[in-house]
Amino acid sequence: MPETARRIVLASRPVGEPKPADFRLEEFPVPQPGPGQLLLRTKWLSLDPYMRGRMSDAPSYAKPVGIDEVMEAGTVSEVAASNNEKFAKGDIVLSRAGWQTHIVSDGSGLRRLDPKLAPISTALGVLGMPGMTAYTGLLEIGAPKAGETVVVSAASGAVGSVVGQIAKIKGARAVGIAGGPDKCNYVKNELGFDDCIDHRGADLAERLKAACPKGIDVYFENVSGPVWDAVFPLLSTFARIPVCGLIAQYSATELTEARYTAPQVFRAILTKRLTIRGFIVTDFAAKHGDFQRDVAQWIKEGKIKYREDIAEGLENAPQAFMGMLKGKNFGKQLVRIAE
Ligand code: NDP
Repeated sequence: MPETARRIVLASRPVGEPKPADFRLEEFPVPQPGPGQLLLRTKWLSLDPYMRGRMSDAPSYAKPVGIDEVMEAGTVSEVAASNNEKFAKGDIVLSRAGWQTHIVSDGSGLRRLDPKLAPISTALGVLGMPGMTAYTGLLEIGAPKAGETVVVSAASGAVGSVVGQIAKIKGARAVGIAGGPDKCNYVKNELGFDDCIDHRGADLAERLKAACPKGIDVYFENVSGPVWDAVFPLLSTFARIPVCGLIAQYSATELTEARYTAPQVFRAILTKRLTIRGFIVTDFAAKHGDFQRDVAQWIKEGKIKYREDIAEGLENAPQAFMGMLKGKNFGKQLVRIAE
């Protein structure tokens, strides 16, 4: 029986939290590569919070996925057939095939991976875009110094876990904020952060204050919302705040009530000389070589550990994605599409 390809398209723009009906699974004939082209078969699909932004047509830094279009995503794929002299059948490549099992490519934008150097799935996590986000956001904007206190939210996740471990490598005190005791245990006892605070419990502000007796010198912002409210009064003079993500807002349908609003934040920017800087990982593309060299070395030395949360099969991607937005993932969220 000929192989059938499958894809997940955006069926409708979610209002609030995405729901199963916003996605549609379709089958289609496996495409055939033309001259100079190759056929990619997806092995690993990366699910990332930014995809919630691509489902919305509100103005942003990237254009949205169109209705009935394949959801976009980073993937690790195998070259299943090649008419392109730069790639051979069996090569493993980092690609952007989206939420689908097969795609034809002309080879541009692909990066060949060496399965002997690292498990290929890491090209989507610790050695890929999330790892690079942590490395550049922390070092280029946060610039932690030895003895300073670095706080990171979504601390057990793909980005946050790397932020805290690099902070430790640089001699800083690392304090994570994560959802639930299991994630906090992991952050503290496996990843080696100095402390981790559960944002789901009561008295978040008081518990964070106790964990940061000298204030916060770097706050790596991944979530916003009540977590930011707890962090804000603790910021030290000259604190740096890389604004990486605002996941608590991504599915919000109205402005949530914030404890600290623009006048208080601007006053603190002035009086405490805060640096608050948003960034998109691609802003630091020139640092990719440094990132690959340093993080690969730190993994080899056991200074950076990582964890993957694997969903099985393309059909389970929507559920895994919806879960990730609510903190159900524990580690970098991936979908295994094929062995
Ligand atoms: P994660 O693996 O950390 O997964 C998302 C986590 O966010 C959840 O597991 C959950 O963890 C946490 N979360 C969700 N909702 C809330 C909430 N309301 N309050 C507090 N925490 C919440 O994802 P990534 O590491 O891939 O991404 C982390 C952040 O980095 C995201 O905001 C993402 O958009 C951003 N990002 C930005 C990039 C850039 O270029 N600027 C590039 C890549 C990522 P918990 O259970 O601990 O609450």
